[in-house]
Amino acid sequence: MRLENRVAIVTGAGQGIGKAIALKLASEGASIVISDVNLETAQRVVDEIKSKGGKGLALKADVSKKEEVQKMVKDALEYFKAIHILINNAGIVKYAPITEMKEADWDAVLDVDLKGVFLCTQAVLPHMMAQKWGKIVNISSATGIGCLSEGQATYAAAKTGIIQFTKATALEAGPYGINVNCIAPGMIITDATYSRDSREVAEARIELRKKAAALRRVGYPEDIAKAALFLVSEDASFISAQVLAVNGGRMDRM
Ligand code: NAD
Repeated sequence: MRLENRVAIVTGAGQGIGKAIALKLASEGASIVISDVNLETAQRVVDEIKSKGGKGLALKADVSKKEEVQKMVKDALEYFKAIHILINNAGIVKYAPITEMKEADWDAVLDVDLKGVFLCTQAVLPHMMAQKWGKIVNISSATGIGCLSEGQATYAAAKTGIIQFTKATALEAGPYGINVNCIAPGMIITDATYSRDSREVAEARIELRKKAAALRRVGYPEDIAKAALFLVSEDASFISAQVLAVNGGRMDRM
């Protein structure tokens, strides 16, 4: 058990990549706060963790709203008495060409994907600094490094912002024994992969990404969960301010 006596908050952990990370950290002994805007899915993940003998707490919070984030962190601290690990995973996408992009969609993506990372980091950092130990992993994207499809400008801007925010946070938090890193996943198949577009469009997107990857495959949530576990474990104790690209060898995203 690599994470015994550790408490982790995973945002957007009700499904997809966040859920896989939460289950992985729980399997290594961490107590997990499953934070999501959807309390029902969050509770289901907690039930799964508990059914395997782990500890979990579901908390509803929209990461783009400061009061909700502050309350989520306060409730987490009251329940588990400490926060050692933060995984900033919650994110949304809204695809549109720049000429057609609605201002409200730009704001929504930046608010959740980038401001959400800032608000959650700001809320947990004082506690990590006081205990002189912490691990923060921000989930960016291959689209934060390079663009392969049109219509992703908002998402690309937010995910690139996360990379620089990771570095800035690492600099300020490093003297307190806090590692701050970032994962840039390539295409990861989740339930949401097929819900955003028609099956035809989704499959065309998958084929494009398979061809672009040296390993000629797309990824699965478990691929990202394993990378996140590595970054929050002692095996990565001298790693900070880095972007770990987990994308099957996408040389268009370096
Ligand atoms: P997903 O849509 O399956 O899950 C996202 C989760 O975040 C959901 O549970 C949702 O309820 C929650 N969420 C949405 N808005 C929220 C908010 N305002 N506050 C709190 N929770 C909120 O997505 P996913 O594919 O699992 O992606 C997870 C992360 O990984 C995202 O940051 C995404 O940008 C990133 N990512 C995904 C892929 C991919 O191919 N799936 C690739 C690169 C990066």
